[in-house]
Amino acid sequence: MSDAESPNDEFEPIEVFPENETPDLRPGADDCYKCSTCDTNCPVAEVDDDFPGPKFQGPEQWRLKRKEDTSVDDSISKCSNCMRCDSACPSDVPLSQMHNTARAEYVEEELSKTSLTYWRNRILANYRTSAFFASKVPRIANAAMNFGPARWAMDRVFGITSEREFPAFATETFREWWEREGGADGSRERARAARERRGEDADAEKKVAYFHGCYANYNTPEVGKAMVRVFEHFGYELVVPEQRCSGTPMFANGMLDDAERHAEVNVSSMGDLIEQGYDAIASCTSCSMALRQEYPELFDIEGIDELAENTWEALEYLRVQEDLSGELSAATVEDENLAQLAYHAPCHARNQGLDGQALELFADLAGVDAADVGDSCSGISGTYGWKSEKYDTSMKIGEEMFDHMEDVEGEVGMTECPTCAMQMEHGTGYEIRHPLEIVESALVS
Ligand code: SF4
Ligand code: SF4
Repeated sequence: MSDAESPNDEFEPIEVFPENETPDLRPGADDCYKCSTCDTNCPVAEVDDDFPGPKFQGPEQWRLKRKEDTSVDDSISKCSNCMRCDSACPSDVPLSQMHNTARAEYVEEELSKTSLTYWRNRILANYRTSAFFASKVPRIANAAMNFGPARWAMDRVFGITSEREFPAFATETFREWWEREGGADGSRERARAARERRGEDADAEKKVAYFHGCYANYNTPEVGKAMVRVFEHFGYELVVPEQRCSGTPMFANGMLDDAERHAEVNVSSMGDLIEQGYDAIASCTSCSMALRQEYPELFDIEGIDELAENTWEALEYLRVQEDLSGELSAATVEDENLAQLAYHAPCHARNQGLDGQALELFADLAGVDAADVGDSCSGISGTYGWKSEKYDTSMKIGEEMFDHMEDVEGEVGMTECPTCAMQMEHGTGYEIRHPLEIVESALVS
C-alpha cells in the first residue's frame, strides 16, 4: 500500500478540549466517589467548622452547577490553595484545578470590582509590582511598610493584617547581584573552571535556566546566590531569563487572567531556552509547582507542556543528575548556627513528592542535625495569612508546626517555601534558612 493510500490519512483525532476553551473538568468530577479523604486532609476545614471542605468546593459544586443555574459559593475564598486535597484524593480528582477555576468565576461574577476586598486581593496577588517599586527605594520602603500608623490603617481600611511584620526588601536584588557577577558570561567561565577542577570534560554541556521567582529576587537574594554557587560548584552554567511572577498568588486569589499574562512571558522565555537544551530549575517549591502542574492544567500556551516536563526543583535536579548525597556525606558544615535545624516541608513540596528530600540529603551531613517538625500545613499559604479576616485561621493551622519547632533544639528553621518561612519566623521568632543555603555552606568554600 502506498503512503498516499495509508488508512492513517482518514484518521481525524477527536478534540477533547476544543481550542481556546477551558478544559472540561467533568470527568474529574465524576471520578469522585465521596470518600471524604480530601475533607479530612484539609487544614482549613480542620480549624474552621464553617468551611465546607474540598469535596464541596470541587466535585459537589461542579455537579450542582451542571444541574442548576447556581453561582459559586463564597466559601471558595476560604480555601487557601494549599493543594493538600490534591495529593490526598485516591481517585485523582483534579481538586485544586476545580478550586482555581471556581475561584476565578467567583471573582469575575460575584465580587464587586469596586470593593476594597477586590483591590486588596489584587494588590496582594500582584506582589511583584509592589516589590518592583519598593526595591528602587528599599530603605524607605522598609521603614514605610512597618510604620505603625500606616500598618494600622492598612489593617482597618484595607484588610492587610497588622499582626505580621512586612518582610524587608533587599538593598540589592538578586538580579542586580547577578549582573554585577557577570551574568551568563561570568557563570560560563566559573562553571567551566569547576568542571576542570572536578576532572570533568570542560566542554560538557551542563546548562540550566534559573526561575528565581519574586521573593528570592526582591527579599531573599541570599537564596538565589546560594543556588548559583551550588550549581556552579557542580559545573553548571546558569542563565537567568526574563521572568514574571509564577502566578501562585494569583491562582489563590482567583485572578487567572493576570496569572495567564505572567505565564505567557514565563513560558516564552523559559521555553526558548528549553529548546536550546537548558533545563528549568526553581528554588521555590510553589514556583516549580506552578510551572509543572498549574500552568498545563489551567492554560493553553504554546510550549507549556515542554516547560512542565523540563522543570525541576533545584535539589531534586542535583539529586538526579549528580552525586549530591555522596558529596554531602563527605562534607562538614562548620557554621554552628546550622547545627540544629527544624525542618518544615511546604505543602507544595509534598505535592511534588519532595517532602522527605531535605532530611534525607542532610542525614549524613556532618555538623547538621535536621529534624522534621511534622506533616502539618504552616497555615500562611502565600497571601492567605496576610488577610486580616484569615489571620486567626492561619495561626490556628500553624500551631502544630510552631509547637514541634519549639521541641527542636536550637533556634533555626529550614524550609523551601518563602511564605512558610515567614510563618515559621512569625510563630517562633526563629531564623529560617533555605536547604540550598545549607548545601552552599557544606560544599562551597
Ligand atoms: S486546597 Fe487546601 S485549603 Fe483548599 S480545599 Fe484543598 S486542602 Fe482545603
Ligand atoms: S478524596 Fe477524591 S474521591 Fe474522595 S471525596 Fe474527595 S474528591 Fe471525592
